[in-house]
Amino acid sequence: MQRYSAFALARQALNHHEGWERAWRAPDLKDRYEVIVVGAGGHGLATAYYLAKNHGITNVAVIEKGWLGGGNTGRNTTIIRSNYLQEESAAIYELSRGLYEDLSQRLNFNIMFSPRGVLMLCQTEHELRAMKRTAHANRLAGVETEMVDPARVKQLCPIMNVDGPRYPVLGGLWQPRGGTARHDAVAWGYARAASDLGVDIVQNCEVQGIDVSNGKVMGVRTSKGAVRCEKLAVVVAGHSTVLADMAGFRLPIESVALQALVSEPIKPVMDIVVMANTVHGYMSQSDKGELVIGGGADGYNNYTQRGSFQHVEETVRALVETFPIISRLKMLRQWGGIVDMTGDRSPIISKTPVEGIFVNCGWGTGGFKAIPGSGWATASLIAKGEDKVAAPFSLERFREGRMIDESVAAAVAH
Ligand SMILES: Cc1cc2nc3c(=O)[nH]c(=O)nc-3n(C[C@H](O)[C@H](O)[C@H](O)COP(=O)(O)OP(=O)(O)OC[C@H]3O[C@@H](n4cnc5c(N)ncnc54)[C@H](O)[C@@H]3O)c2cc1C
Repeated sequence: MQRYSAFALARQALNHHEGWERAWRAPDLKDRYEVIVVGAGGHGLATAYYLAKNHGITNVAVIEKGWLGGGNTGRNTTIIRSNYLQEESAAIYELSRGLYEDLSQRLNFNIMFSPRGVLMLCQTEHELRAMKRTAHANRLAGVETEMVDPARVKQLCPIMNVDGPRYPVLGGLWQPRGGTARHDAVAWGYARAASDLGVDIVQNCEVQGIDVSNGKVMGVRTSKGAVRCEKLAVVVAGHSTVLADMAGFRLPIESVALQALVSEPIKPVMDIVVMANTVHGYMSQSDKGELVIGGGADGYNNYTQRGSFQHVEETVRALVETFPIISRLKMLRQWGGIVDMTGDRSPIISKTPVEGIFVNCGWGTGGFKAIPGSGWATASLIAKGEDKVAAPFSLERFREGRMIDESVAAAVAH
């Protein structure tokens, strides 16, 4: 792989930038692979990368029906944090946040990780109590967060109106090393590094059927022909139940659209991420100057990968008391992704009733932050048959009633 560096940039500049290699190969599908990963979102690509990097398994294909990173990974609002309530969640989200810290160096690709800090507002007494509980749980789990008072909130984000008549800000849960990263770059960085290690990434190739014989996976049927494999990882977010149907089992997943929008670009006005769970909205400012705004998921199941007008109004109405500045802004564009929700708002990283098939799904509204940790744990589960971080997130928990309730941490879409 051609390394990216200041020196390489200078050398290519002398050559009118005509000597750059393609970032990843565009191979044809082979007849057989040791592992096939369906879905080239962040989680699928990270899984393939860590299979090769950590476990030396390189006979791997990532099969994607569209273009890599074109699903939720390329549509999300890029919030990275690990201030979840339960120990199991703290373990995987903090592993992930830690991996994000030097991911650009490890992948030799600038993912623009920006640990600018994430603030979760408390705008009711109930929320204040819930966040204090989370702060204590975080301390026990070794996740660095702290409760802050309204004066500190105002200091962290001066454009905020903390004295709102309906929802005054009573405090906040502050994670100083939370932040954002460039979503496409995370997908591209993993794709480039995985391809370099020998992983085949095959785009515009839809998996249309899964062959199972005597309870074991044999391969997949795709729009580019049939391929055999020993192991299959289904990492397709909102389409997880569609793929599970093909293999003959069911998943406790509901698919709904989640939307976001951005304003016209303006001068820098906020340099942290703010989430307002009570009113249901969150906001940060992109490097281009746009305010990136997200709200809640649709209240009904659907596969609509697009925005709707009523959602813009709902979300802006929710945020305008706390951020009066947005009343004067034009909204530039909006979009939607299809997210995969579980009942306890925690993910599934698991073996399935079919031998050789693994699933990674259920990240719902908050899986971007988890991409490195999830890929790490899923690769280990596939390679070794078990993984300590992934274990609590198995499908068994739904049978045993051992839920990992994160409905407070995931109360607002993020
Ligand atoms: C509007 C919005 C805002 C969000 N904000 C945040 C946030 O701020 N922070 C955060 O942590 N998370 C956020 N999320 C959630 C996050 O985006 C997802 O949890 C995460 O991107 C899921 O990644 P993935 O790789 O599992 O899925 P995806 O990126 O959706 O990738 C799955 C891929 O599978 C492919 N696929 C599906 N079916 C097939 C098939 N039959 N054959 C081949 N390929 C197939 C799809 O084309 C897709 O590319 C947000 C999501 C949305 C929609």
